[in-house]
Amino acid sequence: MLFTLRRIVQEATQAEGLANVLDLIVQRVREALSVDVASLYLLCPQNEQLTLMASHGLAQGAHLQQYEGLVALVAERAEPVILDNVTGHSRYQRFPGSVEEPLNSFLGVPLLHQRRLLGVLVVQALGEHRFQEDHVAFLVTLVAQLASVISSAEISGELGSGEVQDVGRNILVSGIPGSPGIGIGTAVVYFPDTELEAVPDRNPDSIEDEITLFREAVAQVEVDLLRIKEELSSKLPAEDRALFDAYLMMLSSSSLIDGAVERIKEGNWAPGALRATFLEYQRHFDEMEDDYLRERATDVQDLGRRILEHLLTDGHKRPQYQENTILVGRDISASQLAEVPAEKLAGMVCGSGSGSSHVAILARALGVPAVMGASDLPVARIDGLDVIVDGYQGSIYLRPEKAVRTEFERLAREESELTQGLWSEAKRPAITPDGHTVPVYINSGLKSDLMQAQRSMADGIGLYRTELPFMVRERFPGEVEQANIYERVLRSFPAHPVTLRTLDVGGDKALSYFPIVEDNPFLGYRGIRISLDHPDIFLTQLRAMLQASRATGNLHVLFPMISSMDELDESLALLERARHELGEEGIETPLPRTGVMIEVPSAVYLAEHLARKVDFLSIGTNDLVQYLLAVDRNNTRVAKLYHDDHPAVLCAIEAIVDGAHRAGRPVSVCGEMASDPASMLLLLGAGVDSLSVSVASLPRIKWVIRSFSRQHASEIFTEARRLLDPESIRSLLNNTLIDAGLGALVRAGRH
Ligand code: PEP
Ligand code: MG
Repeated sequence: MLFTLRRIVQEATQAEGLANVLDLIVQRVREALSVDVASLYLLCPQNEQLTLMASHGLAQGAHLQQYEGLVALVAERAEPVILDNVTGHSRYQRFPGSVEEPLNSFLGVPLLHQRRLLGVLVVQALGEHRFQEDHVAFLVTLVAQLASVISSAEISGELGSGEVQDVGRNILVSGIPGSPGIGIGTAVVYFPDTELEAVPDRNPDSIEDEITLFREAVAQVEVDLLRIKEELSSKLPAEDRALFDAYLMMLSSSSLIDGAVERIKEGNWAPGALRATFLEYQRHFDEMEDDYLRERATDVQDLGRRILEHLLTDGHKRPQYQENTILVGRDISASQLAEVPAEKLAGMVCGSGSGSSHVAILARALGVPAVMGASDLPVARIDGLDVIVDGYQGSIYLRPEKAVRTEFERLAREESELTQGLWSEAKRPAITPDGHTVPVYINSGLKSDLMQAQRSMADGIGLYRTELPFMVRERFPGEVEQANIYERVLRSFPAHPVTLRTLDVGGDKALSYFPIVEDNPFLGYRGIRISLDHPDIFLTQLRAMLQASRATGNLHVLFPMISSMDELDESLALLERARHELGEEGIETPLPRTGVMIEVPSAVYLAEHLARKVDFLSIGTNDLVQYLLAVDRNNTRVAKLYHDDHPAVLCAIEAIVDGAHRAGRPVSVCGEMASDPASMLLLLGAGVDSLSVSVASLPRIKWVIRSFSRQHASEIFTEARRLLDPESIRSLLNNTLIDAGLGALVRAGRH
């Protein structure tokens, strides 16, 4: 059963076009369950009607309408419905004049995707009592996996086939808000060089050139294979070398190569044509019963990758990013986003991740509107399309109609005017109307260089993530190398506090040269746990930080992921040791300030005790929220459960602030909650002393501080603490901003 399930899902995933996907599903389901009829109905969102989209096993002229009442019943109940005597059911409607024998056994299961009904899958059989629990279990398991495939195929289907650039109606795809703002531009699909499946369709400049390029790549692979075969001739027995003969035969197979050429002629570029043709072949082999033949699917895949490699290195270099690029990818990492020239980037859409993924944090730092977790987006089909990214709502409009485009252009214009106005105000200190100055620092390290203008607006750096210089190298950076980097950072604000956080790798931040493979990386080997296990690496970093601070004396050292007193004691002892050792070497360094990140629930309860040992606390809400709510910050599926404004989060923040203040220490917030104009009102109200925010959000955050007295913010916090669900808290905040004339911060264009 498992094999059959897997095969159906795999085939449906690889099939192209909605009709093919649906047809394949009903055909395979009918075969797998040996039923008389299998049908699939989809719900049309416009009129809320279920429409029969595919059916298998019906005789010509059969009247399926007779069972539509029962199909609707499945949709209404949103659970499996199993019936043994259909004709006796009140929702059955015999079709006048129908002479067919009724399909008396009926089993329908709803297709649910992200809590939304997509449609209903139905199997039917002549005779009674045909369906049992096994059948239900099979279909329920199957549709759970197929729903997202169908949803994606639906969107793909709306894009139409062939010429995807034709002007049609808007297609709206929902994701998760990643970075606020409106981005209007052209989709450029990012795909890794080695992933044939991820290659997008693209219109070529010249079909002729594309065919030549493709044939040359094939010829190159042929030469490579012959050379490898030759080199291995003395080392491998003949039967193993036969693999290369099989490869060479495939390359000379006219169906495979001509198939790709045909697709190029139809208007796809060579890599796209290669993907479509080779995946189709791979699928054929995958479907074979024979184990040996099934294995050939891997060979086709390997061959496809080899040709792709040549196509990308010889012909199609990485895209030249045009003005207003909307970067789109199934997976985009922070370093890939950083590769696109900032002045060309109008937006980003990522098929995975959530608003708290590091790539989303970088998008916010760059001020680039972004949507995350758009898992239904048919990425391969949208390269070159006009796209609007609504980073407020987490929506993407493909091929927007003129009216929609005009409206978003207006919103974007208003937003840009607002931003410009706020930037010009941003140099002024952030003082509340009742006279409290709130230092606003910036987060850095994901974006390397700060402009002078940005520096003049901030009160220092509240979080420098030291892991980025580690991530972009191929080995741990040495002491001098690190000291140079840190000195540059410390000198960027010579007269202000600069907080360098010690290495925080693990979780979703990997070092290629220090691989960590774990079942639960966010609960595993991360941050301070790694540093304390590797005092050599840790001491090198601490020594580098201390030496870097000699000229400016503004170093604040921040320890991440502290979950116990021991960890802090050990960290402080190592810092002291580093300073002592440097002293012995004749290098005197100023005493740094120290701080603890509060981002693990245990640290919330220990806040007062931790605070007594250091100079300040800094709340890392990105992790704190994920650990408090047990919601992986990187997981699209649970992203809707991730809320900065959750009542439990507010309760934790209150406890941290109280604990720190009892110990006489200030609290800052460096998590993304501080960069959100609505949520930061709560932080202000909770008594947080300073904030560390992304550069792009700094003017907005200062605007909010200048608009609300501490007293007012504290009343809002008290009111929010009485509410028990995040949605009510969010509406309270949004309405408060709107009432205060700051509606533009909630939604573009609303003043
Ligand atoms: C946090 O967890 O809130 C934080 C600032 O650190 P990072 O996002 O780098 O984990
Ligand atoms: Mg963190």
